[in-house]
Amino acid sequence: MGQGLERQQQLEERYLMHTYGRKPVQFVSGQGMKLVDDDGKEYLDFLSGIGVLSLGHNYPAVRKAVVEQAEKLLHVSNYFYVEHRGQLAAALSGLLESNEPDALGYTDESWRTFFGNSGAEANECAIKLARHWGHTHRHDATGIVTAQRSFHGRTLATLFATGQEWKQDPFLPPVSGFYHVPLNDADALEQLLCGPEGDGIVAVMLECIQGEAGVWPCSDEFLQAARRLTLEHGMLLIIDEVQTGMYRTGKPFAFQTYGIVPDVVTVAKGMGDGAPIGGCCARGELGLELQPGEHGSTFGGSPLVCAAAEATLAGFAAEDIGANVREVGPYLRERLESLAHVVDVRGRGLMVGFDLDGPYATRVVDRGLEDGVVLNATGEHTIRLLPPLICSKADVDVLIDTIAPIIEEEA
Ligand SMILES: *Cc1c(COP(=O)(O)O)cnc(C)c1O
Repeated sequence: MGQGLERQQQLEERYLMHTYGRKPVQFVSGQGMKLVDDDGKEYLDFLSGIGVLSLGHNYPAVRKAVVEQAEKLLHVSNYFYVEHRGQLAAALSGLLESNEPDALGYTDESWRTFFGNSGAEANECAIKLARHWGHTHRHDATGIVTAQRSFHGRTLATLFATGQEWKQDPFLPPVSGFYHVPLNDADALEQLLCGPEGDGIVAVMLECIQGEAGVWPCSDEFLQAARRLTLEHGMLLIIDEVQTGMYRTGKPFAFQTYGIVPDVVTVAKGMGDGAPIGGCCARGELGLELQPGEHGSTFGGSPLVCAAAEATLAGFAAEDIGANVREVGPYLRERLESLAHVVDVRGRGLMVGFDLDGPYATRVVDRGLEDGVVLNATGEHTIRLLPPLICSKADVDVLIDTIAPIIEEEA
């Protein structure tokens, strides 16, 4: 361990809030799939900052965009126009557009985005938008249904949207108006929306694949039922694509692998290849619901992060990133399925979770780190993989060769 790490540990112990249990490594640089610590030791990154470094570390075109923008202008207030923001929003709309029919009768096929700085802020905007629309279009209904075990963020509203009571308990009283149904239980959803409480509900908000809870995909039937029911009842469908979006599952957005089109889509993690940016995208006229002064963010949509995100989206096209995800994702799952002691492999594309046959996931993650692979345990049985989308089959082979003997020993 380098001196640098010990110094950081002392400083953080004394001067930071202890909201994270960190692993004893200090990373100082990265390139592609690789991270380097302060001792010069290299690691293969199968977490990519929790699905953030979608094009890998230090992607040349993103770095160039950031450096060029930093030399020109970092920030002005949202009272003014800046370069890159409009182009980025147009590119997002292009990834979202579809010709699917819908009951809300949008006449405008473009999507409009509000830019914030994180996934939670993107979801806050979606929640405010839904409540606003409930007042203007659905007799003041403001309730929002989400799934049990979902994760939508750590701000107060998104925490109570999140379907995990143990995360909420220390922060009671609740933000009211959230309902939770079991994931993939279409009957429970239908009963809630058709029951006495349905009248006060304005939207259903779902992740196509629950990431934080250990990679649990919606079934096709459940997500399609959520779309059908919200259309029938004149409610909004909000899809939280903060983790699943930006080609993570092989298409620009995971909902596109389910054959549905939502009304609101939130994005963040993989959108800026490391630049902190999030967006709430609303379809057609819904994108004009919030009026000047009703929502905002000092930093949101700054030219610096918009330049990074614009270069990231261009990079997805230049690298044909979706094709790589669709090829390497199944290979990764296949290799994991062939391992002894791996009992369940879940996910789509390069968003993969797998369960071990005992409560030793943290041991595997810690020993993996010692042996040069970065992984994440979402529970004592479950490991989550979110590598950069440039991950190759050779990278997968290194991962498997590294963790197979560790799993064998720890089982
Ligand atoms: C990470 C995540 C969030 C929260 O994003 P932050 O940038 O940490 O605020 C919200 N929803 C989902 C599905 C996520 O994975």
